Amino acid sequence: MLVELSGISKRYKMGDVWVDALKDVSLSLAKGEFLAVKGPSGSGKSTLLNILSALDQCDSGTVHVGGINIGRLGEHQRSKFRNRHIGIVFQSFNLIPVLSALENVMYPLTLRGVKEAKPRALQALRDVGLDQQANQRPTQLSGGQMQRVAIARAIVTQPDIVLADEPTANLDSKTSEHIMTLIQKLNKEQGVTFVISTHDDYVTGLASRVITILDGELVKDSQTNISPLDR
Ligand code: ADP
Ligand code: ADP
Repeated sequence: MLVELSGISKRYKMGDVWVDALKDVSLSLAKGEFLAVKGPSGSGKSTLLNILSALDQCDSGTVHVGGINIGRLGEHQRSKFRNRHIGIVFQSFNLIPVLSALENVMYPLTLRGVKEAKPRALQALRDVGLDQQANQRPTQLSGGQMQRVAIARAIVTQPDIVLADEPTANLDSKTSEHIMTLIQKLNKEQGVTFVISTHDDYVTGLASRVITILDGELVKDSQTNISPLDR
């Protein structure tokens, strides 16, 4: 399995009150899956994605990604793990405004000292249908185009998983559908593994598997069709 989450719990302190962001969540994910994580705002979706990317650490349970026990890594190792294994797509795109679309996509490769950064970045832009816009700055692009650039930047390093926290939250419904169709295509044709959080039903409709999180608990998994709470 690419991802093995076992008995994950995470609490946050809000003033004097503890909030259970995740409660005893277990989940296995194979390479090539397109997983949608569904649930209302505040249910724990971001927390789950942040734990998968080692941005955050859980209080109990274990997390293995590609055989690596990421809960045991120190700060430096976690950042190295993210660079090597994870691609991240943000809801606010997070492109660098002074760089062109092409330079934004080249950036993670340049950081890693990859020599063929330019042809690889151009190919990634082609994969998301934006090679014609390679020399444009983010401000010259529409929201949907910016998110395509961000997806190209996330896949260009060929990560094990691409994590996207509400990637369509800032897009209109038509553009959201186009972005989700693109993600579905990258998943099917290139085998990119995606984990996407959302509260939109038409987003979850394109995923190969949907899990539902409610108040920090995994209450439904479409792969098994049984609620873990019933077992
Ligand atoms: P969304 O619901 O769109 O995922 P949130 O606003 O819930 O966005 O969360 C965005 C980021 O802020 C996440 O990384 C989350 O962990 C963090 N966050 C959420 N709630 C709080 C909070 N009460 N205090 C501090 N950080 C928070
Ligand atoms: P979602 O992504 O589903 O909106 P989150 O994972 O952001 O949910 O949040 C789950 C719960 O944990 C919420 O109650 C949120 O306010 C809380 N939370 C998340 N991150 C933080 C944080 N850094 N500090 C305090 N509370 C947080």
